[in-house]
Amino acid sequence: MRNIEPSGARLWESLMRMADIGATPAGGVNRLTLTAEDAAARALLLEWGKAVGCSVLRDRVGNLALLRPGTDATRKPVAIGSHLDTVPTGGKFDGAYGVLAGLEVLRTLHDAGVQTAAPIMLINWANEEGARFSPPMAASAVAMGFATEAALRATPDRFGGVAYGEALDAQRLAGDADPAVLRDLACYFEAHIEQGPELERLGVPLGIVTHAFASRYVTIEVTGADGHIGSPMAGRADALAGAAAMILAAERIGQASAGMVSVTRIAIAPDALGNIASTARLAANARHGETAGAEALLAALTAECETIATARGLRVAITRGWGYAATRFDPALMAMLERAATRRGIATHRMPCPIGHDAILVGQVLPAALLFIPCHGGLSHNEAESITPEWAEAGLRLLADAVLEAAG
Ligand SMILES: [Zn+2]
Repeated sequence: MRNIEPSGARLWESLMRMADIGATPAGGVNRLTLTAEDAAARALLLEWGKAVGCSVLRDRVGNLALLRPGTDATRKPVAIGSHLDTVPTGGKFDGAYGVLAGLEVLRTLHDAGVQTAAPIMLINWANEEGARFSPPMAASAVAMGFATEAALRATPDRFGGVAYGEALDAQRLAGDADPAVLRDLACYFEAHIEQGPELERLGVPLGIVTHAFASRYVTIEVTGADGHIGSPMAGRADALAGAAAMILAAERIGQASAGMVSVTRIAIAPDALGNIASTARLAANARHGETAGAEALLAALTAECETIATARGLRVAITRGWGYAATRFDPALMAMLERAATRRGIATHRMPCPIGHDAILVGQVLPAALLFIPCHGGLSHNEAESITPEWAEAGLRLLADAVLEAAG
């Protein structure tokens, strides 16, 4: 098995150039999906991809792919992907690292004149972050058949009410391709910063993700009764006080588990200084390494909320929202990455992933692998997000070797 030598220096240069698009004064990046900044980032990627002879594929929901042909017409593409969109106060590496490491693989193959049997595809998934259009990973979800194009196009922008489809058309980022073509792949690799502190703590430059946690959101609607805050304490049906007890119950259930339970939002009515709240609406999430584990956490939370509501004379209704099942990554692809690491003398660590990535949805449909590099302090979704050029290069080498092996 031959190794190719991708350039860590050129990858770093590309990362820094990409980070200029949407650069914030504090050193971060604000490149929300389907904005002018996102369009500029994609244009730069296209320019780079065309310079190494790739053809371009745009699907109807804004996913963008570069394709390097293979020599065997019967083989499906080996894909590499991640995202160029960021949260409003994002960093330089979340998402961009995976896309630009993939680009560097294409450049290296081009420079070395290497022909692979299978085509190689680099995918920039649209709206991974979900910071502008909720939920996240929305366009990979359509490509993998978990959501419809119509529903995504109709999704409103959380800031100004522009629909996803309108923003897509305004920036001219949609193409003609059926998103399902991005499901017709041999396999999929994604490289990403860890967004946790484990690899840096262990002093290991590469994480091989074994499985991704299941995640499910629920809405908890608590209903009590309006009243004056001068009314007697006894006999109240205070929805906010009940919600507070439910928030602490969620934390307790999470702490006692191998997963996580979090309440992240609260809205109350009438939200007035002199009024007992008659309703409280909470957003909660449960995550667990097993889909059944996440369901068990939600069942425990539901039971606790019902007990609290009954004791306080409240009503509670729990509605399931967006989520996804746990994903097992492909053992053969994981082994390919680990063999490459052994050949190059780079240490790796097997680890689970509790955070959402496009690879999770792809991995439910296709053989997929997710590779982590460390980030300082586990920090991400933060303008101070940082990595070292050495970590970036270690991930790039493994990605290049594994893709080359998979593509033949
Ligand atoms: Zn990301």
